[in-house]
Order: sequence, then C-alpha cells, then structure tokens
Amino acid sequence: MGFWTNGETNHNGGWLPTWDYPNDLATTETRITVPADWYVFGNGALKSNVLDAESKTRTFHWQMDQPHATYLLSLGAGLFDIKFAEWRGVPLIYAAPKGKGHLIDNTFDETPEMLSFYSDLLGVKYPWPKYAEFGAYDFDNAVQYVSATIFDERYLADKRRGMRTSSGVVAHELVHQWFGNLVTPKHWGEIWLSEGFAMFFGQGLYSEHWRSKADYDHLIEDFSQDYFSESRRYKRPLSTKLYRDVDAMFDTHSYRKGGAILHTLRRSLGDKVFYQGISHYLTKHRNTLVDSHDFCAAMTEGTGINLEPFFDQWVFKPGHPVLDYAWAWDDAKKEIVLTVRQTQDTKDGTPIYELNVTVGWISGGRVARERSRIDKAEQTIRIVAPSKPEAVLLDPDHDFLREIPTLHWAPEELPHILKFAPNAVDREEAMRRMLEGTPSDGAVQAVAESVRADNGKFPVFRSLSTLVDLKRNDLRPLFREQLTHLAIGRRYYGILGLDKLPKDQADIQTLRNLVSQQEPFIMVRTAVQTLRDWDAPGNREIFKKAIQVVPPEDRTRLIAYDGLAQADAAEGRQPPDADPQMEIMFKNLLSGIAAGRNDSSLITEGLHSFVTRPSVVQNVASWLKDMKSFTFLLREDARERGMERRGAKVERIWYYKIISGQRTQYLTFYLTADGKVTDIEISRE
Ligand SMILES: [Zn+2]
Repeated sequence: MGFWTNGETNHNGGWLPTWDYPNDLATTETRITVPADWYVFGNGALKSNVLDAESKTRTFHWQMDQPHATYLLSLGAGLFDIKFAEWRGVPLIYAAPKGKGHLIDNTFDETPEMLSFYSDLLGVKYPWPKYAEFGAYDFDNAVQYVSATIFDERYLADKRRGMRTSSGVVAHELVHQWFGNLVTPKHWGEIWLSEGFAMFFGQGLYSEHWRSKADYDHLIEDFSQDYFSESRRYKRPLSTKLYRDVDAMFDTHSYRKGGAILHTLRRSLGDKVFYQGISHYLTKHRNTLVDSHDFCAAMTEGTGINLEPFFDQWVFKPGHPVLDYAWAWDDAKKEIVLTVRQTQDTKDGTPIYELNVTVGWISGGRVARERSRIDKAEQTIRIVAPSKPEAVLLDPDHDFLREIPTLHWAPEELPHILKFAPNAVDREEAMRRMLEGTPSDGAVQAVAESVRADNGKFPVFRSLSTLVDLKRNDLRPLFREQLTHLAIGRRYYGILGLDKLPKDQADIQTLRNLVSQQEPFIMVRTAVQTLRDWDAPGNREIFKKAIQVVPPEDRTRLIAYDGLAQADAAEGRQPPDADPQMEIMFKNLLSGIAAGRNDSSLITEGLHSFVTRPSVVQNVASWLKDMKSFTFLLREDARERGMERRGAKVERIWYYKIISGQRTQYLTFYLTADGKVTDIEISRE
C-alpha cells in the first residue's frame, strides 16, 4: 500500500501545475496527509510530521528552499521499515517496504562513507538538507529526486545474492545529487551532463575506490563495448539539439559513452588537475542550469588548460577512434616501429582524432612506456628500446575511448601480456586467446598459474569459462581451490569446472556442504545442479534440503524439483501427484497462446492481457516449435504462502521442465482456487 511519483522527464505536470521543462528552477514545499501509520518522503527538510489522533491521519510538511528543476520534485508514501542515521549533521533516512527492513543495511549502509568520499573529492559538500533512500514496489529502476532517491525494491540487496550488488546504483543516484540536481542540464539534449557523470563518478569510482583497479578496468571496458554496439546503429554528438523525443536522449551515448569520455578527460589531465576542474565547475554553476559549453569553459578556467580541442572532438562531434596497429623490430636502429591507422568512417562528421597516446612494451617482465602523438589517418611511430621487446601494446592503460576491432597480437606475445599487461581487460583477452582451439600443456599451465595468483576479492580474471570448457582433469586441483576464492564469481566457476569432470567422491562431499543457509544463492544452485547431473538418486536428501535453504522465488528450487524427479525416474518410481489431464490442459493453453487464440475460461483476466501481447505470443510459439520434452516435476499447495499473481490469489502451483531446442527451461503455472491459470513463468537453467 502506498504511492510514489516519477516526475523525470516531463511527468510532474500530470499531478500538479508546473513548467515541465528542465530550464526553470523553483523552490518547493509539500504538505501531504496520509493514514497515521504511513511515512511520506518529500524533498528538502522535514518541517513537521503531525499526528491527528481523531482522524487517524498524519501530515508531513517538506520544504526545499534551494531552487531546483521542477521535474526533481517527488513524493513517496506508504508503509515502510525505516532506519535513521546522520552524516556531518545531515539527517539520512533509509527505507524498505514494510517487512523488507532486513535488507536495508546491506543496501544503504555505505551511504555515509560515500557522502564523505564524494564531498571531499568534489570539493563541494553534499548540498541538500537531508538524504533519503527508499525502495518501492513497481518502481521502474531508480531515480535521484532532489534529496530523496527512489529505488525499485528489487535493488534491496540480499547478502546471499552476491557482494554489495546494488552499491554501484546507490553511488550513481547519490552522485546525481551534485550532477543533475545541483548543476542541471538546461535541456534534454545535454543529459549526458547528468547521466554520464553518474556513470563515471557513481559506478566507475565506486569500482575503483571500494573494489579494485581491475574492477574499474572491466567497467570502463563494459561502458565502451555497450556504446560501440549502439554506435553500429547510430552515432551522435554527446551534446546535441537534434533529437526525436526526450526518451531518445536516455541512450547508451548519454550514459556509457558519457562515462567513458569523462574517464578519457580524467586520464588526459591527470587526477589532480581533473578534480580541480570539476570542483570549479560545480562551485561556479551550483544551483544553476548548464550545457556542455559551460562545462568546457569551467574546466578550462579551473585547470588553466584550453579544453576546447578536447570538447570539439569528443563532445561536439559524433563517433570515436577505431584503431588498427602493428609493430615490428628494427634491429639495426634498435627501434620499435609501430604503424597506427585510424579507420573510423568520417563521412558522418566523425573526426580523425588528435591523441596523446602511450606506447607500452614489456621486457623482462617490466612495462616501459613512452608518450607519442597521433593526429593522422595513418602514421608510423618509432621508439628506441635497448632490445626487442617481448610484447608491445598501444595504449596499455586504456586511457581513452577507442575501438580496436582486430588485435594483431602474436602468439609469443600472449604469455607476457597475460602476466604483465597493466590493464585487466588485456590480461583476460590474452588468456582467452591462449586457450583457443587445442592449447598446449604449457599454455594451460601458464594460464593456471596466473589464475592462481589472481586471488583478490575483485579479480582480474572474472570468467574462467574458457578453462572450464577444456574439461581437463589436471585442472581439478585449480577448480577445487576456486571454491574458497574471495570472489563469489570465481567460486561459481570452481563448481562449473568440477561439473564438467567425472564425478569424484571428495568433490561430492564438498558440494553437498555448499547446500546451506550461509552460502550465496548462486553457489547453492550450481552445487545442486552438479549433484543432480552426477547422481540424482544419491542426492535425494540434498535436494530436499536445498528447497529449505533458498527463498521460494529462487530458481534453485526448480533444479531441486528436477533432481527429485530424476531420482524417481532412475529408480522406476512414478512421480507423486502427476495428473495427465492437467498436462493436456496446460499444453492446449500454450498452443492456444502461440496461435493467438486463447480460451479465457482457462485463464484469469490479468493473465489474458499479458498473453495477448505480440512479444509473448511470439515467445511461446518459438519454444513450442522446438519442444523435445515436457516433464511434470511437482505440484505445490500454495494457500499458506498468501501469494498474488496478476491480480489474483494463487492456490496451487504446477512445475514442469521443458527441453526446447538446446535449452532446458522450467515452466511454472500459478492456479487460482477456481482452477484458472493466473500466471505462467518461464526460467532458464
Ligand atoms: Zn542516472
């Protein structure tokens, strides 16, 4: 019970008379009367919260006396579990929908530390009279209303889901309190000044400061790759006045390219000068409207460096550098000869970039660097070195946004890049290449050694899937070691590695021990999956235990049900409760949906409006087409769970496993008391 508003971009006009465009600022005040047990989150300072015992209501009076864009005005109200805290005299409020209070700490309790970090780094103290963060049902994602951020309640982070899974988003929304709220883009075509900043300072610096440099390296690469894939559809300048509609500006350019360009600016200026410029920009423009020219001018003033050329190529023009490079050794002159080409298509206004680049070379396990300049479509760089290097990398630190479609790394360079490259992304790529095809024993051992040494909580090698796919028994000790790695992701690959090997008594015991209340969900799930694949009848008790140690909505339960069904089948037992009539009914229902005709006597109104959507019809049709099997797993009495789906109460749940094409999937049917289907859920193994 409760409500929220969602004003960004131009929606506040739907409930109060306001100017729905970001280019005007106002101070605001709200007085809201709600049932006595509700709480109301508004903007600014709480002036009063008064109970009226007679009418059993409560009135909240919030006041924001600094001007802000009107789309940043918000309200959220309802029944909450709430925690209060304080940071340097600023009240903090964290909340979750009633009953979810146990998730508050693991989601929000880094907020004071983040407030200190960003206030000190930016040289501008958190500017508003309080900060509230709360989770709400059915909210789309998360939005940074001024001094009050609303999160989809699914961001409330259970510890067993992984390490601090929502912290990047929490940091992102907090950063908006400066970038977006204190300095506000004057029109939507400048929204990168809000979203690009939140990506770089939020997710980016959270990774670097709270996790590891490797984590930051991977994140910047993820930003770049996401943007490259959008850039194959279209390219536009970060700052633009030409756009179809407001929503079109909330694209990967504004978010991820924006984040990558701030990373580029940071590396080109160096940390000290960069943050000095940023601080000047915030101070000069606080509580006002900005565009990219204001940002450029403030950075130029704050750093004393003319940044117009930088902004011209990275912000006001579309595209990015696409590079191709190769190197050779000139033994006579003792020089590295590097040829570099910029191959981007310039017809759309993408420039030939002027770049200060670093050339890095690895010799005797050490990385040497030299600065050079690129400003032509093709050029040669010559660098003196004492002897032929073991490997050469253009831009070894990934200092700027660039795409290199084909890396011409020679096989003999790979072990050196694997071990000594300064950027995690290059090391992971070298690993992938060394294990391609049928790798030599030497290559596998070299990779294993690097993986073993990479034992931090936020490691360089995030994925071990190439090692897992080799199915080599001599890697068993390595996979076993991964089971106690500090990073949950690496523990997961440990199990996957063992899963691909013949079953082993000692490993069975280890995996059984992972099925416990303490383990992350992904560990329990993967262990159950492997035990089922190895020996379903022998692990019947473990499957029953797994159902107890995960929440009802976790996919682990489906795999455990499948384990029990497989154990029955292996021992020639009939599954209990199977009902062939129901199976026929479900199959008919599915083919009806796929054919676009659906018998509404079988389904509730809520489901009817869902399964008539074209995308749902298409999906159901596609997995029915390649269906290889449809197996009953279990029937559950759900009356006690008090569950609602698509507006109707659930009484019974039916679970099936289907194999369709190459995929194993689970189908769950939710039934009401009068036997109608009110929801169908599909999940992958
Ligand atoms: Zn944002």
